[in-house]
Amino acid sequence: MQTNQYDLLIIGAGVSGSALLYLTSRYTDIQHIGLLEKYAAPARVNSLSSNNSQTLHCGDIETNYTLEKALKVKRAASMLRNYATAQPDHHHIIFKYSKMVLGVGSKECQLLRERFKIFGEHYPNLQLLDKKAIAKIEPAVATGINGDGLRDDEIIALGSTDEYTAVNFEALSRSFVRQAEMLEDKQVDVHYNETVQHIKIEADYFIIETDGVCYRSKSLVVCAGGHSLKLAHDLGYGLHYSCLPMAGSYYFTPQCLNGKVYTVQNDALPFAAIHGDPDVLVPGETRFGPTALVLPILERYNLKTLPDFLQVFRFDRRVAKVLYDLMKVKDIRHYIFKNLLFEIPIIRKFLFLKDVRKIVPSLKLRDLRFAHKVGGIRPQLIDKDHQKLLMGEAKIDTGKGAIFNMTPSPGGTSCLENAEIDMRAIVSHLGASIDEAAFKKDLLGDDQKHAQNDFTGRVISDN
Ligand SMILES: Cc1cc2nc3c(=O)[nH]c(=O)nc-3n(C[C@H](O)[C@H](O)[C@H](O)COP(=O)(O)OP(=O)(O)OC[C@H]3O[C@@H](n4cnc5c(N)ncnc54)[C@H](O)[C@@H]3O)c2cc1C
Repeated sequence: MQTNQYDLLIIGAGVSGSALLYLTSRYTDIQHIGLLEKYAAPARVNSLSSNNSQTLHCGDIETNYTLEKALKVKRAASMLRNYATAQPDHHHIIFKYSKMVLGVGSKECQLLRERFKIFGEHYPNLQLLDKKAIAKIEPAVATGINGDGLRDDEIIALGSTDEYTAVNFEALSRSFVRQAEMLEDKQVDVHYNETVQHIKIEADYFIIETDGVCYRSKSLVVCAGGHSLKLAHDLGYGLHYSCLPMAGSYYFTPQCLNGKVYTVQNDALPFAAIHGDPDVLVPGETRFGPTALVLPILERYNLKTLPDFLQVFRFDRRVAKVLYDLMKVKDIRHYIFKNLLFEIPIIRKFLFLKDVRKIVPSLKLRDLRFAHKVGGIRPQLIDKDHQKLLMGEAKIDTGKGAIFNMTPSPGGTSCLENAEIDMRAIVSHLGASIDEAAFKKDLLGDDQKHAQNDFTGRVISDN
């Protein structure tokens, strides 16, 4: 029988909230765990399969990652892979495709050669691929503009061919929820169609109010994307953060790639360059993107989230300064302007074609199709105190049993690692315990046992 009182209440059934539901119900002795989700099923927002690039980021082909960041992401990716491959329906969750990062021109090629020297020893499957080797894996990438013969410009790639590289984060979220609900030794309740409106603290309990129901919980983890910040502000936390929602759009072409092809990142830009990927649910096509466009909403294609954006944007002099500083950089200014044009019908196809031809030179205008209703929103935070745009995930741990997660890319990949951090914090708050042996055996494979595990490094403590 369902009650309204919990030891732990999680808000949001995207991949972050559902991963935490799974970890806490499977590996801790916390007895009463609840999950509130405003839609009728898990993963309807950014974790929806069509709303992200479906990449399992391992750090080897992401040239914007330092070695330290890459190894951290590698550990997170390995946890996800260990979970997913152990599931009987793993072929709906995780997928093997070739992957590579492509360098075009002497500067990018040199950068990749240098990177290989440093990253190669940490990634045994990573290979340095010349034009002919690229042609064997991705013929369309190595072929010239007319579709015959090798392309003239200098190219090189770093890549691998036999790894899990793509994840359906929507199927993964459903799997986490299903596995948690199957456990019989504790109470795990998932409440759909419940939108959290307000949170307050009474005595030692969090009181969580939805439209019709009031829940009480000893601890609380909010995994509601950009809405996490709104709920944190509600409780008086994270007031020095503003949220800048960055929408990403995609284009489909007939299938021209066999796997994932990333490009070298421009260091001056805060967002990943466009890449080409198979869509795990759309066979026969290749998906290129994402673009990056600031939109004043917290959920893509949901204008009702405009007032929520206005609440979390908290525009003031410090936010204006961060935006002004970004716009001062020529590459960023051009990038923002170009991404605006990417949304304008007709013009956008011409502009996007120029960018995708770096990956597949023979693509034609008629091959490109704007992917309608595809692509979510990355809730990037602005730290007003330090006057900078934060990249990657952000967390507000109140230290008093409430945690708020904001998870732009690579939040899908790091769902279990992030959930592990929250699980440890909540267990410590509740005085509960973790079955460490089972946790290590199931999720941390041999290759990860000695990996660095900086549990507190990313936690932003707030009060
Ligand atoms: C364009 C794009 C490309 C990306 N590509 C990748 C990639 O290739 N690889 C990768 O690892 N990551 C990628 N990401 C990031 C990844 O998609 C997200 O980090 C991840 O899906 C976030 O999961 P989440 O559970 O934190 O948030 P979400 O999936 O957004 O889930 C939040 C949940 O909270 C619920 N919710 C919100 N408010 C309330 C409320 N008040 N009450 C109850 N429920 C509420 C929502 O309905 C939703 O279900 C990408 C993101 C974007 C936008």
